[in-house]
Amino acid sequence: MESASLMEKIVSLAKRRGFIFPGSEIYGGLAGTYDYGPLGVEMKNNLKKEFWRAMVYDRQDTVGLDAAIIMNPKAWEASGHTSAFTDPLVECKTCHERIRADHSEEIEEHAKAHKKKKEPVSWTEPRQFNLLVEAKLGAVEGEKTTVYLRGEITQGVHVNFKNVLDSTHRKLPFGVVQIGKAFRNEITPGNFLFRLREFEQMELQYYVKPEEREAGEIFEYWKQERMRWYASLGMDPKRLCFREHEKDERAHYARAAWDIEYDSPFGGWKEMEGIHHRGDWDLSRHAQFSGQDLSYYDEERKERYVPWVIETSGGVDRAILFFLLDAYHEDGERKILKLHPRLAPYKAAVFPLLANKPQLVEKAKSVYNDLKKDFVVAWDDRGNIGKRYYAQDEIGTPWCITVDFQTLEDDTVTVRDRDTAQQERIKIAEISAFLQKIQER
Ligand code: ATP
Repeated sequence: MESASLMEKIVSLAKRRGFIFPGSEIYGGLAGTYDYGPLGVEMKNNLKKEFWRAMVYDRQDTVGLDAAIIMNPKAWEASGHTSAFTDPLVECKTCHERIRADHSEEIEEHAKAHKKKKEPVSWTEPRQFNLLVEAKLGAVEGEKTTVYLRGEITQGVHVNFKNVLDSTHRKLPFGVVQIGKAFRNEITPGNFLFRLREFEQMELQYYVKPEEREAGEIFEYWKQERMRWYASLGMDPKRLCFREHEKDERAHYARAAWDIEYDSPFGGWKEMEGIHHRGDWDLSRHAQFSGQDLSYYDEERKERYVPWVIETSGGVDRAILFFLLDAYHEDGERKILKLHPRLAPYKAAVFPLLANKPQLVEKAKSVYNDLKKDFVVAWDDRGNIGKRYYAQDEIGTPWCITVDFQTLEDDTVTVRDRDTAQQERIKIAEISAFLQKIQER
């Protein structure tokens, strides 16, 4: 499949079948925003559910949190977000790195690196960049406070470190998991869901003892664990890789930074998730700016210290984009989204073989209504059965269940597998267990 057109195919399928629509489309759109349609919202919810399950429910060393999007602006001073990006910067249009417009040597070095890789080099005009999105809060005109829509979901966790500790009595190491919206005034939004101005992040902030070796091992553990998670949901391991950040590429506080990258059709390897060793930067800065003690008392060692943080930070929308790209297959006229059943919007579709035979329709409806109690399932009685299979393949429905004349005699149905196109007959009473078991694979 030609890779340049793969992205176009996904954008078009996503719109046509109700996964993703351009934001505010009837008004000509709004750059950097997209809306999730009826199927997209199911897939996105499934992805977030899987993240929560793996990161919270399947573990004993983590808890969840859901902090407010708008925080006291001091939090952003502490995190460095308000002071950073206030210099005139130019942005490299190829890799989006921003460099101070007056740092000509750095700009030259940067251009050289791209030329060496035979990549294009061009820069945006120098501008005052601040990635934080401002909003005005308050009821009375003239008394409104300038606040920020969070630029990352991370800080909402760190400002609650003490609250989580006091309410859960956790011992180090432990982690706090969060999923939520973040906003950035990206200079060059683009590549569909890849670079948005409003997007969602899924993160873990894992607090550890400030010990080099232990923290290093935990860092490595989370790197592998996060990579394993993407592969466990069906992403092709050959299209995934780790990349270590160069020293000058890292945030100033980061002791180590690696990305999980996906081999995209728009310029190769692209960041999907970052794993960062943040040291004690966040807690120390919030302690300094708030005047609160954010240290941890280690009962075994009888000492007090500020924990270090290992962070895993992934983009929900980027993951959705890469899962869609990864799942797309063509087989002649057939377009198949080979999504993992756990991610697929519908787990199954139920059809009556013929829509004009009331007995078949009635029986199929009863199968459909029963399954609906436990699974998200689709109903389709339009056109012929072949067309319905094609339509379900294109949206990634793993199984199609057909009620035919034999069903009326022996209470069995045919179940057709999306990936193999093979059919088998099973008892109606066993469909539920079948879907349950296969979802677990
Ligand atoms: P990039 O270098 O691509 O701008 P970043 O290094 O600034 O990304 P982080 O701040 O580490 O990204 O954010 C963590 C994750 O959040 C990223 O790996 C990505 O999946 C997601 N993310 C960041 N910015 C965006 C965006 N503008 N649109 C969609 N997802 C984003």
